[in-house]
Amino acid sequence: MIMPAVKIDPEQIILDKPLFDPQAFRLNDEQAEIIASARRLGQTVFAGRAAAYDRDAKFPTENYRDLHRTGLLGIAIPKKLGGLGADYQTYAIAAAEIGRYCGATALTWNMHVCSTLWSGPLADDLDMDASTRAEHERRRAIHYKRIVDDGAIYSQPFSEGGAAAAGGVAFGTEAKPTKGGWLVNGKKIFASLSGHADYYGVLCTEIAEGEKASRRNTLYLALPAKADGVSVVGDWDPLGMRGTVSRTLLFKDVFVPEDAALMPRGVYFQAAMRWPHMFLTLSPTYVGLAQAAYDFTVRYLRGEVPGTPPVKRRMYPTKQIAVAQMQIKLEQVKAIWFQAITEARANPTKEQVLRAYAAQYSVMEGANEIATLAIRTCGGQAMLKSLPLERIYRDSRCGSLMLPWTAELCLDRIGREALYETGESDD
Ligand SMILES: Cc1cc2nc3c(=O)[nH]c(=O)nc-3n(C[C@H](O)[C@H](O)[C@H](O)COP(=O)(O)OP(=O)(O)OC[C@H]3O[C@@H](n4cnc5c(N)ncnc54)[C@H](O)[C@@H]3O)c2cc1C
Repeated sequence: MIMPAVKIDPEQIILDKPLFDPQAFRLNDEQAEIIASARRLGQTVFAGRAAAYDRDAKFPTENYRDLHRTGLLGIAIPKKLGGLGADYQTYAIAAAEIGRYCGATALTWNMHVCSTLWSGPLADDLDMDASTRAEHERRRAIHYKRIVDDGAIYSQPFSEGGAAAAGGVAFGTEAKPTKGGWLVNGKKIFASLSGHADYYGVLCTEIAEGEKASRRNTLYLALPAKADGVSVVGDWDPLGMRGTVSRTLLFKDVFVPEDAALMPRGVYFQAAMRWPHMFLTLSPTYVGLAQAAYDFTVRYLRGEVPGTPPVKRRMYPTKQIAVAQMQIKLEQVKAIWFQAITEARANPTKEQVLRAYAAQYSVMEGANEIATLAIRTCGGQAMLKSLPLERIYRDSRCGSLMLPWTAELCLDRIGREALYETGESDD
C-alpha cells in the first residue's frame, strides 16, 4: 500500500494521501479538516525546510510562524478561546502528519501543544472543587490568549538526568512558595526549544520550608524565558532530531507569579495517575516518520523520487519482499497506535494501559525498524544527505529514548503489570 499522490486543485498541488483515511477510520469532517491542514502545511512548506534545520541543528522558527498563521499553534485550545478545539485523537493524527515531513517540528510542536492539551481537555476530566476549577479556567485563558494572539511558544522540560523523569521520584527542580508566587531553582536537561520558547512549562516540586519532596506536590509552571535567573547552557550536536535544540536550562531564584501555574496544586500528580495516555503524546511524530520511510522506499523503487534518475528497482523479488515486510510493520504500528489514541481517557482499564505501553513501544521501535529496512532496500544512493531518508533514519532512532515511556521502561511495565495485580508481591 503506497500513499499515492492525488491532485487536489487547479494549481496542480499534489498532496499526499492522509495517514488515516477519514472514512475508513471514521473521523468526522471537522477532524479531517484540521488533520488535512497539518498535512498540507507539512508537505508544501515544512518538507522543503527540514534538511536545513537538520544540517544546522537550528530551531524551526519559520515553521512556528506558519503554525501560528494557520491556527495550529492553538490546535487544542477550546474554540471559545480562539483555538481549533481539537481533541486528543485529532491532535495526535495531525502531529503524525507533520512528522512525515519534519520530525523536529512535530516533536517540538508536541511539547508546545501538551501545555494546552494537559491543561485543557485532559484537566477537564480530572477532579477539582468548583473554586479551584474556576481559578484554573481563568489562568489557562491567560496562557491560551498569549498563544492565539501573540504566537507564544511553550516548551515542556521535565528531564533532569535522574529518576524523576521516569516517574520514580519527585522532581529535583524546586518551587519554594513566596509572596504572590514561587521561587524556582533547578536544572533541566534535554530541554527541547531551549532559547526559542517564550515560556518553559517546567515540572517541579513545591517544597515549603522544612517539608520533604513528594511527587504529590508536583507543579507545572510556565516560566517566562526572559525571567531573571533563567539561562540556557551547553551545546547541541546530536545524532537526530537536531532541530529540537534540546539544551540545558538552569533556574536560579526565578520568581514566577501564581498565574504561571498551568495546573492547580495536585492536579499534575492526579493526571499522571489517572490519565496515563498523557505520556503517549511523544509517539505521533514517529508514526509520521515510519510512514515517511515507507513512502520514500516505494517512490524510490518506482524511480519517482524527485532529484534522482528515473531508474526503476522494483522488479527485484528481494526488494518486493522487503517492501511487503515494511508495509506489514507499518500497518501493525498504525493499527495499535490508532486504537490507543482513540481510547485515551481518564481512568483507563488495565488492558487499555498495557495497550498504550505496547503502542508506544511498537511505534518507537517500529519506526526505526522501517527506516533501517528502507535504507537497506533502497541502497547506497538513497542514503545521501541530498535525500530525506537518512534524516528520517536518524530522527527515528531517538523515539525509544524518550522518557518517561522509553522502550525499556515500556517492556518493564508491561511485564510487571501483566504478571502482578496492584498490591501483589511474592513475599
Ligand atoms: C531529541 C530529544 C528531545 C528531547 N526533548 C525533551 C524535552 O523537551 N523535555 C524533556 O523533559 N526531555 C526531553 N528529552 C529527554 C528524554 O525524554 C530523556 O530524558 C533522555 O533521553 C534521557 O537520557 P539519559 O541518558 O539521561 O537517560 P537515563 O536516565 O540515563 O536513562 C537511560 C535509560 O535507562 C532506562 N531507565 C531510566 N530510568 C529508569 C528506571 N527508573 N528504571 C528502569 N530503567 C530506567 C531508560 O530506558 C532510559 O532510556 C529529549 C530527548 C531527546 C533524545
